[in-house]
Amino acid sequence: VARLIVREIASNQLGPGSVLAPEHVMARQYGVGHPAVREALRLLEAQGLIVVRPGVGGGPVVGTPSGTDFAQTMTMFLQANGTKVSQLNDAVAAMEASCATLAARRVVDGTHDPDLLEAVQEISHNDLLSDETDDAFITHGGAFHRAVRELAGNYIVDLVADSIGHLFSERAGGSGGRHFKPEHRKEVARTHVQIARAITQGNVSRAHRLTFEHMLAEADYVASLYPGVLDEVIDWR
Ligand SMILES: [Zn+2]
Repeated sequence: VARLIVREIASNQLGPGSVLAPEHVMARQYGVGHPAVREALRLLEAQGLIVVRPGVGGGPVVGTPSGTDFAQTMTMFLQANGTKVSQLNDAVAAMEASCATLAARRVVDGTHDPDLLEAVQEISHNDLLSDETDDAFITHGGAFHRAVRELAGNYIVDLVADSIGHLFSERAGGSGGRHFKPEHRKEVARTHVQIARAITQGNVSRAHRLTFEHMLAEADYVASLYPGVLDEVIDWR
């Protein structure tokens, strides 16, 4: 039943917030009992695909599934497998590097969105040095990588990269302090400009290498602020 509901959402291209048929209508439509529909809705709600609004006039509506929702599902697998936070570092770097590769490849093929490329260039020139807190610095840095992922235009890689990035910052992030020294910020800002340039030039291998090394270094640095975090098993949240 859950699969039928997802198919219905996809084939009718229902966006977030779209109201779905009430439970009793679904039961009739799919020829199943109410408990089966309720179970399907609960399953979809747990994955963030729908939201069931309570009360009179409530009912199921299409949700806004995000990397965060996907990440939650992923942690179930990661914990069961005893996966440690240290693996997130490598995975984040690999996925972000893949996004930069795809973005540069799009530029080579001429299939990229010029506005998105411009956004990548523009954000890379944002002065990360002017950020007053670590959180603002991290947010602006994140905006750059999000723009690259958008330019890459591959939802699968975007979703996975977003999810594992979220898992990492959930366990080692939000310092709120002043851990990032001006020299460090300058280095990050410089690297973002270099990555944007490599993508703009369609230099696939350079875009990949720069991003991979940059993300690895950043993740290692952030992890060093949280002693012991790398050896923690990723818990299901
Ligand atoms: Zn960065």
